[in-house]
Amino acid sequence: MEIFHDIKSLQKQLNLLRSNGKTIGFVPTMGALHNGHLSLVHKAKAQCDISVCSIFVNPTQFNEKSDLDKYPRTLEADQKLLQTAANDIIFAPSANEMYPDGTAIKHQFDFGYLVKPMEGATRPGHFEGMAQVVNLLLDIVQPDALFMGQKDYQQVAIVRRLLKLTNKTNIKLVMCDIIRDEDGLAMSSRNRRITAENRTIASQIHKTLIAAKHNRLEYTIDILKQWAMESLSMMGFKPIYFEFVDAETLKPVKDLHNDGKGIVACVAAWLGEVRLIDNMIIS
Ligand code: AMP
Repeated sequence: MEIFHDIKSLQKQLNLLRSNGKTIGFVPTMGALHNGHLSLVHKAKAQCDISVCSIFVNPTQFNEKSDLDKYPRTLEADQKLLQTAANDIIFAPSANEMYPDGTAIKHQFDFGYLVKPMEGATRPGHFEGMAQVVNLLLDIVQPDALFMGQKDYQQVAIVRRLLKLTNKTNIKLVMCDIIRDEDGLAMSSRNRRITAENRTIASQIHKTLIAAKHNRLEYTIDILKQWAMESLSMMGFKPIYFEFVDAETLKPVKDLHNDGKGIVACVAAWLGEVRLIDNMIIS
């Protein structure tokens, strides 16, 4: 496995590989890796000749400086994990390397409604920063396929639109399943900040999604949403949203009986100091 910190040497190596006919699968991450990230690397390895995993805590997608400061940085451990996953190349640039002219957002993409609800409503500027860095990374790596987790469902929908808006439709976007701990908690780099006491509560977020899916034909959307928000509160979360949305447009759905269309239940909640998100495709 090779590690590059600068764009030029990475591109030199990738050009060489490409000229030898190798296909490139790309996994962008912010590090503090866990099995969820490694599952993306495994998918990339299964579908492409070479896997490139980027590790970059992107400052422009954090709307709160304290969240950026607290974000775990564990490059050495990440390297070891990626080695075990037989990853080929790590790209771990500095902020200076990525943003030599400063971090101001240069391209304003029109994502329409996709950036409005849920994470967009509660984390202003987050998706603009995410799209900026993903676009930059794609220009640098020029992969054949891009591997992203369903864990961040709204992010995948926005990146799908980004590929269209930037004429990068030659890049195949692969959405990978959510990897969970044994009790159902979706793996996340933020989970290591959950206190031991709260860790026993944390899996209830997944159980609430399962119950909503199970009961979707028995109750109205409003009742289910109210029930989910109230039960999360009672269990010790501070719920932020619980929404049933169209799988493509992310617009709120009105009818859970419509099985012909994809519907995703999405949830965000604070548990102590940690903001958790999860989702489930329910039809
Ligand atoms: P992050 O480092 O949190 O920006 O995540 C990098 C990539 O890993 C994103 O595409 C995430 O959706 C994906 N990811 C994070 N957690 C999981 C998980 N539990 N299962 C699958 N993919 C995940």
